[in-house]
Amino acid sequence: MRKNYEDAVTTHPMIVQCMAELLINECKATVLIADSPGGDFTAEVMDAIYNTTGMREVAEKTGAELNYNFKEKMYDNEAGLYLKKVKVSEFISNVDKIISMPKLKTHSMMTYTGAVKNLFGIIPGITKAEYHLHMSGYDKFADALIDICLLAKPTLTIMDAIVSMDGNGPSAGNKKNTNAILASADPFTLDKVCCDLIGFPFDIVPTVAKSIERNLCKLNSDDVEIKGEINVNLKPFEMPDSISDVFLKTDQFDGKYVDENIKAKPVCDQSKCVKCLVCKQSCPAKAISFVNNQITIDTDKCIRCYCCQELCPFKAIKIRRSYLLRALLKDHEW
Ligand code: SF4
Ligand code: SF4
Repeated sequence: MRKNYEDAVTTHPMIVQCMAELLINECKATVLIADSPGGDFTAEVMDAIYNTTGMREVAEKTGAELNYNFKEKMYDNEAGLYLKKVKVSEFISNVDKIISMPKLKTHSMMTYTGAVKNLFGIIPGITKAEYHLHMSGYDKFADALIDICLLAKPTLTIMDAIVSMDGNGPSAGNKKNTNAILASADPFTLDKVCCDLIGFPFDIVPTVAKSIERNLCKLNSDDVEIKGEINVNLKPFEMPDSISDVFLKTDQFDGKYVDENIKAKPVCDQSKCVKCLVCKQSCPAKAISFVNNQITIDTDKCIRCYCCQELCPFKAIKIRRSYLLRALLKDHEW
């Protein structure tokens, strides 16, 4: 994502640099640093992203390479439950092992984004929108993310939780000093442990709930061996405004009334909008239009992926809870 690493949206380059140095100097490995944004996936876009996120400097200091292979390839995914074929970036064919380095953050659609969600980055650029559209809804999308993670099979996941993001993540939330780094060979269990540490019940984090349902991670934390500092307490960790959708299981209901009166919805704060149209171009459901010099969102078409909020460079997309939701949740800390 094209955000300065100081914004706590992307993994801090110092952590990537340490890992690259270790792999290059101690393991004599060749390291390829790769990322894939939600929009266009081109050399021009990636030049800007590598510069802004500090990855170009990491590459220059360590001798790691930066990925400029933008081809797609269809892979069979035997381990997947729903996605038996997945269109991913071709560069993963050219590496022996994947080390995934997510940032600990909240996520408006999925409550939390961590080890499993980070592997959505192997889906090239705008192709991500196809998965949002065809696996829409947080439960189906969680299954898709799990299937993609099973295809990627990361050797190791290192979670940057030194400065995390709570509230309206993954890009419009609050920076939070949490001073931790968490690592595991098992991305599913790592997410469960992280959610325990930040105080998010697993049943409102769809990727964790589905991982447990699919027997990919253990429900009971006592069954998980944690090495190192085990007294890390990352609470309180503020939830995103859209949490009510997952909490009330609004995915189970369909129709115009639910869309307009119960589900949270994205709205454009016209005072902050600079009319760059990034949100319109990124919307998988084509629910955003530009009419009378204003961004307008069609709630009927909107699939609540919150890509518009994530990708708006000016934090102009807000999540608004319905009156009914506010009333239902008025005594709840969320
Ligand atoms: S991405 Fe943000 S600033 Fe750009 S048009 Fe959309 S709401 Fe406005
Ligand atoms: S309007 Fe925003 S939340 Fe709705 S489908 Fe489009 S990108 Fe997703």
